[in-house]
Amino acid sequence: MENKFRFYNTLTRSIETLIPNEEGKIAMYTCGPTVYHFAHIGNLRSYIMEDVLEKTLRYIGYDVKRVMNITDVGHLSSDADTGEDKMLSGAKRENKTVMEIAKFYTDAFFDDCGKLNIKRPDVVEPATNCIPEFIHMVEVLLKKGYAYEAGGNVYFDTSKLEDYYVFSSAVEKEQLQVGVRDDVEADANKKNTNDFVLWFTKSKFEDQALKWDSPWGVGYPGWHIECSCISMKHLGEYMDIHCGGVDNIFPHHTNEIAQSESYTGHKWCNYWFHVNHLNDKSGKMSKSKGDFLTVSLLESKGYNPLVYRMFCLQSHYRKPLEFSYEVLDNMEAAYNKLAKRVAELKDEGELDTTAFRMFKEKFEDALCDDLNTSMAITVIYDLLKADVNDKTKLTLINDFDAVLSLNLYEEGKKLSEATQNTGVSAELEAFVLEKIKERAEAKKAKDFATADAIRDELLAKGIAIKDTREGTKWELV
Ligand SMILES: [Zn+2]
Repeated sequence: MENKFRFYNTLTRSIETLIPNEEGKIAMYTCGPTVYHFAHIGNLRSYIMEDVLEKTLRYIGYDVKRVMNITDVGHLSSDADTGEDKMLSGAKRENKTVMEIAKFYTDAFFDDCGKLNIKRPDVVEPATNCIPEFIHMVEVLLKKGYAYEAGGNVYFDTSKLEDYYVFSSAVEKEQLQVGVRDDVEADANKKNTNDFVLWFTKSKFEDQALKWDSPWGVGYPGWHIECSCISMKHLGEYMDIHCGGVDNIFPHHTNEIAQSESYTGHKWCNYWFHVNHLNDKSGKMSKSKGDFLTVSLLESKGYNPLVYRMFCLQSHYRKPLEFSYEVLDNMEAAYNKLAKRVAELKDEGELDTTAFRMFKEKFEDALCDDLNTSMAITVIYDLLKADVNDKTKLTLINDFDAVLSLNLYEEGKKLSEATQNTGVSAELEAFVLEKIKERAEAKKAKDFATADAIRDELLAKGIAIKDTREGTKWELV
């Protein structure tokens, strides 16, 4: 088959044509979530764009195998393997065991993915399933002289590599060599600043809850080793595409390459795909400040999660994306309008095969041009305006949805039905009723400030409320 998909490879810092190791087949790996908390919508941006990447490759004819890990052990609060264990702090926060926390937040993660139409990868493997594989890789790295034992831990020796900082420019390399990234004091066991832990038996931070026996004592694996082992377990020693967020580039992906290529003795993965941050006006969004933005929070505010998916698709994955409720409101209006237009199309008549091929080609061209998803959506708008019959339009839009997964037709139908009854979408109606309930509770508690604030909030959405003897009524203004 023809290799026509072009995208930005972080490893070569250039746009390249994807040429898989094996013709027609793609081996793809995604760094999965650390399951100690609900997923932030900023992290979910990466998973949405990786989902579009996978679906695009399938759409243009590749046979894709995609693997993802679940980090349920070993990810410390700093990516550079210092600080408290994330899983342990989650367990302490909620008074549960680490495995209970892992199960709960793994399920929550896949619930969110379901709501955002993110396909589950072909293989999903929790790190705790693969302890023997981790131990084996660490043993080989020690034997080959790429690792050393110190203070009870096993470390990777970054000075053994000719080019450890594979992703970085010459200037960045210098900065990385001098800068100690962590706000905690450096680990005295390390020979070089950026050496990292492969296996812990001793940590100056609070002890890990889950531990396993190993040749170096009872302990637990470092975070980076998980991805090297889990990907090789399911995809072998040669991989086509490795995905993640831009914050994974250093140190996580840099360390994955160091371990994997030292272990195999050859190049490991050819293409690296990284999705940029979701920001707010003040800069990068973090879990610690302001609203902790989750899919459930967006739903509780009356948004259809697919509006957030469209919001991500309307921007290029390599650019930072700025989030605000104002922008999301605009996206909601655009999504609803588009969905309703699609739902009005009649599934009648003959398919115009010439038009079908032409628009399909435009759609593929947009995606094959470094995953230009907003251009792919523009093809839908162009199609709706074009002099083409409804049957052809509808067939194309449903065909495109194999990649975009915006459910435009189904959601449009729902919206038109809801509008016929109340004049507003089902989501907005549910939101209004919830707010009226909250306002009644506030009034009962004599919290009139909150009650007034809720009234104003609804008014801003175009809903006026009136207290009557039969209860609170609402109407569009
Ligand atoms: Zn990873």
